[in-house]
Amino acid sequence: MMEHVSGLVCTMCGATYGVDEVEYVCPHHGDDGILDVRYDYERIARSLSPVRLSEDPTRSIWRYLPLLPVEPQQALDLVSDTVIADVGWTPLYPAPRLAEPLGLQQLWLKDDGRQPTASFKDRASAIAVVKARELGYEVITTASTGNAAAALSGLCAAIDQPNVIFVPQTAPQAKIAQLLVYGATVLLVDGTYDDAFELCLEAAPAFGWYNRNTAYNPYMSEGKKTVAYEICEQFGWQAPDVVVVPVGDGCIIGGVYKGLTDLLELGWIERMPRIIGVQAAGSAPLVDAWEQGRQGWDMRPVPAHSVADSIVAGLPRDRIKALRAVRQSGGALVRVSDAQIIAAIPALAQGAGVFAEPAAAAAYAGLARSVELGWVQPQDRVVVLVTGSGLKDVATAIRSVGQPLLVSPDLADVRRVLSSTWSVRL
Ligand SMILES: *Cc1c(COP(=O)(O)O)cnc(C)c1O
Ligand SMILES: [Zn+2]
Repeated sequence: MMEHVSGLVCTMCGATYGVDEVEYVCPHHGDDGILDVRYDYERIARSLSPVRLSEDPTRSIWRYLPLLPVEPQQALDLVSDTVIADVGWTPLYPAPRLAEPLGLQQLWLKDDGRQPTASFKDRASAIAVVKARELGYEVITTASTGNAAAALSGLCAAIDQPNVIFVPQTAPQAKIAQLLVYGATVLLVDGTYDDAFELCLEAAPAFGWYNRNTAYNPYMSEGKKTVAYEICEQFGWQAPDVVVVPVGDGCIIGGVYKGLTDLLELGWIERMPRIIGVQAAGSAPLVDAWEQGRQGWDMRPVPAHSVADSIVAGLPRDRIKALRAVRQSGGALVRVSDAQIIAAIPALAQGAGVFAEPAAAAAYAGLARSVELGWVQPQDRVVVLVTGSGLKDVATAIRSVGQPLLVSPDLADVRRVLSSTWSVRL
């Protein structure tokens, strides 16, 4: 089975395991022993190539099936004709009006708000539902700040798959609404995301559930890496110079690096782009570790808070892969304030027509900061990942722009209100 996957390698000790030998983490390193999935690239190259891809009408992550850690035919049979078949292949928009004020010549937005459940997390959850069925589990569980859960419950609903979700009580209403509407069993944890994560780690083995938790489950990075394939393919297999990624647990940024590494191994791109991670100033343990030259396994939990709920993590679970992505790619990690994040929401929407949730807008705020710090140069070809839709957190969106104008149902009043606020002559 899965002949194209050559093994699972511990990111701490380098020990290699067969896919049937371990399920989640390296047995020698407990929850920190996060595994990397390795492939037989020669074998994959026999069935997949840029030319073959250019002839493939599939517009989703499943166009890269030979590079995903699943039983190919079983996966296709499960997802076809469901929303899971539509995960991925999101638009990549040029954003000249956003580039200009930053002094950049070429900027693109990869809009993952356009996924079936409106966030980037669909890429990982799609793999989780397929793996759970492959391995014969009856229930899937995850802890989440909101989006991973919404993604899991939405994709589970598509195939009538029971799931149990642990989310912090503070998650935005829209995300909680998604979970309930999709029919998940929702447990609101009276605690932080970090508490929810630990609780879920205990519950999964106790009840025999499949665990989708970020970083803990080695296959989640493998779903997330597909964004790197798409960006490079959408550019005609030319890697950009810089990819800017919002960072909480660090699974997305690790996945971006993994996808680019796969493409380098296959020889489909020529060099590794610089990967820049963006954290909220109130939840920036990875920026601290990067600045201090510390390793992921030396980090301890810190209190974390930000308006950008999707990137609040006091102990980033994929910290080893995140730091590796930044260090190996010659990238950087930057922090942005909540005020900068909130200001970035209307900036993105009005500068490109892309409505982002706070965590996603943070990436654009982080690009501005990276330009200031000299991490990005004017001629760089830059891609910003927009990881979630603005409809995920309407309260913060309203906060970013204020309330609308109020008129009585009367044209004279429309004239009065507009004349005091509009620059256009009536
Ligand atoms: C989860 C998430 C992130 C951060 O991803 P990590 O893998 O936790 O670093 C960023 N933006 C949005 C919208 C997310 O849902
Ligand atoms: Zn190990």
